[in-house]
Parts: sequence; structure tokens; C-alpha cells
Amino acid sequence: MFTRLREWRHRRIVERHGIDVDLWSRVIAEHRLFDHFDSAQLRGLHDLAALFLHEKRVFGTHALEITDFMRVTVAAQAVVPILNLDLSYYRGWTVILLYPGAFIARHEFTDEAGVVHVIEEELDGEAMDAGSVVISWEQASAGPQRFPRTNVVIHELAHKLDYLNGDANGLPPLHGDMSVNAWARAFGEAYAHMNAQLERNAPLRLDSYAAESPAEFFAVMSEAFFETPGDLVDTYPEVYRELAAFYRQNPLRPAHNF
Ligand SMILES: [Zn+2]
Repeated sequence: MFTRLREWRHRRIVERHGIDVDLWSRVIAEHRLFDHFDSAQLRGLHDLAALFLHEKRVFGTHALEITDFMRVTVAAQAVVPILNLDLSYYRGWTVILLYPGAFIARHEFTDEAGVVHVIEEELDGEAMDAGSVVISWEQASAGPQRFPRTNVVIHELAHKLDYLNGDANGLPPLHGDMSVNAWARAFGEAYAHMNAQLERNAPLRLDSYAAESPAEFFAVMSEAFFETPGDLVDTYPEVYRELAAFYRQNPLRPAHNF
């Protein structure tokens, strides 16, 4: 009953607030991320992006004026991970803040001796537990020119998925047909392998930022899963398999379940 009510509500929102087809086509054409989706999946993303924008608010900082093109660019990428999940995976937050470019994040923490430390780092995006998602528009918009093929929108929203079951630790809430042990083994081995590769200065096909922590590893592997699935499946096939089961998508063979 509630599912049907929700579906009806969603249909009504899409009918009233649907994204202009020309605008949608312009956004999709700019990002290679969308190349592997078939027309039915693109229609699904189009409707989901309208629901996403109905629920979330996109604000600019530093006098950055937010246009419909910018809102749709963010929304189109944001809904890729949840195409076969549900908008409720993005529950508990409503605001996306767009910075014109990279920004300085300032964090304070108190150590065991009670001393307060302040850390400042330059970031392209940031997502915290209950707070807004912060994204650099320069990074979110740089579709065709971007190299290596990273994706700051997918990265930050993967952190949000990770937070759904507590801390961001690289373990989002898995589906009932998945195994936490299999996930931990696949990700643990790949994470250790990447760190060993970095220590040996070996060349990497995937973004080395993943080696920062298990949480960053999950976020960066999620970017690779959608942006460069061939690189991911060649490097860490078990991680690809776990992400395919979690996202319920198979970017290498989109018409098939993994
Ligand atoms: Zn991150």
C-alpha cells in the first residue's frame, strides 16, 4: 500500500517537475559516465534526477550563481549509484553546496592529551554524516576533459551511503543476499595491495587517493566502478563483483545483472 502511494507520488513529481529533455541531453552528452547506459536506463536516470532535485537543494558559495544546467549536471551524476536502489538511500540530508573550485576544509580534533589540533586541507568535495554535501563545481562539470577519470559527485555520495550504517568505514549497509565477510575480504585484500604498490612506487591504474583509508577506498572504487569499470575489473575483480552486487548494476554489461 505504502509502496503504491509512494510510486504514485513520485510519478506526480516527475510529471510536474520533469527535467527539460534538451537540457538533459546536453548534460548527458558532456559526461562519458553516461555512455554505457541504454535508453531505458537513461530514462530511469532522468526521472530519478527530477525526484532528486525535488528533494535536495543546490546552493552556490562565493557568489557562484546556480543555473538549471548546474543543478541537472549534479543530479544526473548523483543518481547513477542509486539507479537500481532507491532515493531513500540519500535520506537524512538535503543540501548540496557548490564551491566554484577547490576549497580549504578546516577540521578541529582533540587528542588524548586534550590538545586541540586544527587541520586544513584543500579538497574537491566533502561529505559528513548528517551535514550537507560539498562539491567543487569545477570538478563536477569537467566531463570530457577530466583525467584521470575521477568523479567527485559519485565519490561524495558513496561516503553518504557509507554513513547510512554508522561511521564511514568502507562498509555501507549490504543487501540481505550479500556477505559482510566476502565484502571485507575483497576490499581488505585490494586495499592492502594498493598500499603495497604505493610503497614500491609501482604504477597504478586507479586513483591512489583510495589508499588514504578504507572509507576513501570504497569511495574511489565506486568512482572507478562507474567511470572506468574495465580498469577496476582488471585490477580488483572481487571488488568489482561486490560493488555490482551492492549497486545492483553491471557497467561492463549494463543489460545484465552481475
Ligand atoms: Zn573522500
